[in-house]
Amino acid sequence: MCQLLTYDLICCHSSQKWDYCAESQANGRIPCKSQTHRVVSYPTPPEFEPAPLCHRPECHFNRLDGVWNCCWCGKTHNTTGRCSGMMIYQELTTCDHICCPFCERGTTRGCWGSR
Ligand SMILES: [Zn+2]
Ligand SMILES: [Zn+2]
Ligand SMILES: [Zn+2]
Ligand SMILES: [Zn+2]
Repeated sequence: MCQLLTYDLICCHSSQKWDYCAESQANGRIPCKSQTHRVVSYPTPPEFEPAPLCHRPECHFNRLDGVWNCCWCGKTHNTTGRCSGMMIYQELTTCDHICCPFCERGTTRGCWGSR
């Protein structure tokens, strides 16, 4: 049975990949008749590693090499596609901003400093 895997990626996009079985044809290019679909959420479980890379040209998370500063709340060093900054908006919530064209590349000074 061939599985179409939809991966939720770290950058908040998704990417699909076939997991072919022995009955698939053309060296695993054409799925067999029994197909299932499965969503693999992030973080990728070890049995579904490696997750495909995001190849979207509009992926700003990739463009900034996976470290970025949020243009909404000012949180620095985000390393996932969605900002984890804390905001107080009636109650405490996370910013949840997804990396956009206005977000800037995160710098590596600070945390790991110039030691
Ligand atoms: Zn199959
Ligand atoms: Zn992406
Ligand atoms: Zn933010
Ligand atoms: Zn932004």
